[in-house]
Amino acid sequence: MEKWKELAQHVLNDGEIMNSEALSILECPDEDILLLMHDSFQIRKKYYGKKVKLNMIMNAKSGLCPENCGYCSQSSIAESPIESYRMRDKKLLVEGAKQAHKLNIGTYCIVASGRGPSNKEVDQVVEAVKEIKNTYGLKICACLGLLKPEQAKRLKEAGVDRYNHNINTSASHHSNITTSHTYDNRVNTITIAKESGMSPCSGVIIGMKEEKQDVVDMATSLKTLDADSIPINFLHAID
Ligand code: SF4
Repeated sequence: MEKWKELAQHVLNDGEIMNSEALSILECPDEDILLLMHDSFQIRKKYYGKKVKLNMIMNAKSGLCPENCGYCSQSSIAESPIESYRMRDKKLLVEGAKQAHKLNIGTYCIVASGRGPSNKEVDQVVEAVKEIKNTYGLKICACLGLLKPEQAKRLKEAGVDRYNHNINTSASHHSNITTSHTYDNRVNTITIAKESGMSPCSGVIIGMKEEKQDVVDMATSLKTLDADSIPINFLHAID
């Protein structure tokens, strides 16, 4: 089918995809999927070639979260038998970075559960990041939840290169996945991270009973937010 080729060419020529065209991609018939993937790959090839970057996640704090995100096993309403622990100390965070360095990983991601970090938790991450930067020179991404501007400033000054905070879903679907914080809270943190000089990483989770239009809206929001990196997660419910 020429349609996907034409759309890909339009994007390669710096054109924008209309809402109806974006929806038609999501409604692509099964027999066209391989063609769609082939033509989409031309866009990927132009901007990223065949390069794949390796990131390693350090689960710096697990569980103990007061929020009620319906998709998350660490939430206050989840009953999953997960391990819970407070923010890992500097020694363990640096030990993880040593492992990442040994494995030739490009970016070491320090990820913590919770609504947002306390100032004490930011202190712990800041101290670890300074040592990791001095010793291993790894790129560092932090994902600590909702941020205050002064916390973002401290993380940036310590050497955090990137901050991850996903929008997760569309603005209109957000209250269906959590009621303990808002979509605007999330957007605000991405803006704060960006204004501090950290590179914004923000993505979504697909498979939370959203409509196709929500998926298009998520993509449009991330374009507006100018996220540098966009993780796409898929949730597969097991009945
Ligand atoms: S804020 Fe983060 S850790 Fe807490 S429930 Fe939501 S996704 Fe899970």
